[in-house]
Amino acid sequence: MVRMLIAGNWKMNGELNMARELANAIKEGSTAHSCEYLLCPPATALSTIAELLKDSDVSIGGQDCHAEASGAHTGDISVEMLSNIGCEYVIVGHSERRSGHMESDATVKVKAETAQAGGLVAIICVGESHTQRESGEALSMVETQVTQSLPNGATSSNTIIAYEPVWAIGTGKVPTLEQITEMHLHIQSVLKREMGGDSPELTKLLYGGSVNAVNADKILRCAGVTGALVGGASLKADSFLAIGQSCP
Ligand code: PEP
Repeated sequence: MVRMLIAGNWKMNGELNMARELANAIKEGSTAHSCEYLLCPPATALSTIAELLKDSDVSIGGQDCHAEASGAHTGDISVEMLSNIGCEYVIVGHSERRSGHMESDATVKVKAETAQAGGLVAIICVGESHTQRESGEALSMVETQVTQSLPNGATSSNTIIAYEPVWAIGTGKVPTLEQITEMHLHIQSVLKREMGGDSPELTKLLYGGSVNAVNADKILRCAGVTGALVGGASLKADSFLAIGQSCP
């Protein structure tokens, strides 16, 4: 049985006072729940929030990392820097990075490999566009992304896949429960083929895209779903904790 993971991606939100308040409320509320919580604050708040969560069961992660271990990359953050302040996870290949920073599957794969080499769990985001969904290409498109973004040496302990349809992120639109189930089972079968011996059922598969306190209950009960990657609803402790409380 895989323990569910509820991850909050704060994106470019969270000046220090707000970040402290939010993380404190989540830390307090989380003790009553059986799922694992992960917070991914912006880079400027990582150290502060890592310190605040030190003695808690809430994990912390980065929203991105550089593909190289170190070097002349102004403005970027390395895996070692994340790990050094207590991060255990890093999100790679979020659709906002893929579209806003032109990140390809090949780049995402190298980032995931760098994360793995540095001891972090890579949360690899994949997901189809609205046009791809409409033209019946969602399954094949996501299969390609998973296959090409998956690091060599991926295991259930160093890799998580987050299925986030691009058209569902921040829009209030959510695929049907049948579509979520179909995609998660498809990703499981792709992982089975790609990861060989390591059992794909143990690899966490998060759903992301307009998850909230109301729809989480049903989404988290879809076959193949073992957690959620939450954007907007992770910025309020009540709604984020309500999602965690919905975990079966
Ligand atoms: C996200 O950006 O990862 C996300 C899922 O956002 P939202 O929950 O706001 O759709």
